[in-house]
Amino acid sequence: MALSRGRAAGGWPVSLCRRFMTVWRKLESGSEEEEEKEAAAAVYVHWPYCQRRCTYCNFNKYVKPAVDHDLMQQCLVRESETLLHLSQIKRISSVYFGGGTPSLAKPATIAKLLETFSKCAQLPDDTEVTLEVNPTSAGASKLAEFRSAGVNRFSLGIQDAVSNHNLMYWRGRQYIGIGPGAHGRFRPSTEGGAQREARVQTLEPDVWMMEVKNSGHGTRKRVRLTQLDV
Ligand code: SF4
Repeated sequence: MALSRGRAAGGWPVSLCRRFMTVWRKLESGSEEEEEKEAAAAVYVHWPYCQRRCTYCNFNKYVKPAVDHDLMQQCLVRESETLLHLSQIKRISSVYFGGGTPSLAKPATIAKLLETFSKCAQLPDDTEVTLEVNPTSAGASKLAEFRSAGVNRFSLGIQDAVSNHNLMYWRGRQYIGIGPGAHGRFRPSTEGGAQREARVQTLEPDVWMMEVKNSGHGTRKRVRLTQLDV
């Protein structure tokens, strides 16, 4: 049967059909965008040690003359594997090493963590990888080593508003916090979590390391978030 002018199959006016298709496509692309958002997360790693304690600072930091770098690396790697697996994210959108003074960490630790991330999720070559730098703890040769480890951005930490990492945070995207006192907001997919949770890791590094050794992570606090919180 020939279609009459201005009518689509099923007898619907063509203009109505077009409008319906436009709305449908928008809904489809909206849910694709939502899926894409949930498939990615920013990762924050907290290095808790400093050389000295500045009186004005209220960050989670500790002064320890002999840091056990090997143990710290093992625990950061283990917690990364646990939380990235838990989240089931497919892609890491940015990595930020903060502290404390992360430039006191060994470049080998940074390299090992980036290698771990890329085993657990996609970490594209052009991903922003930031390391906060305290100029006194990072000479030019150490900065070069951090670059070789995979860092492509250094920050003085103060009012670092322009990083992709902070943009992800402000846009309400998922982020995963690793290390003593780190914060996160993500969906614990392997536990069947349909909603995001706010998570805080144990503050004190020795206690955090013990918890990571015993249970694979040092999450101290979990709060389920509503759509309004996100
Ligand atoms: S985090 Fe920075 S400001 Fe705070 S104690 Fe360490 S070096 Fe000082």
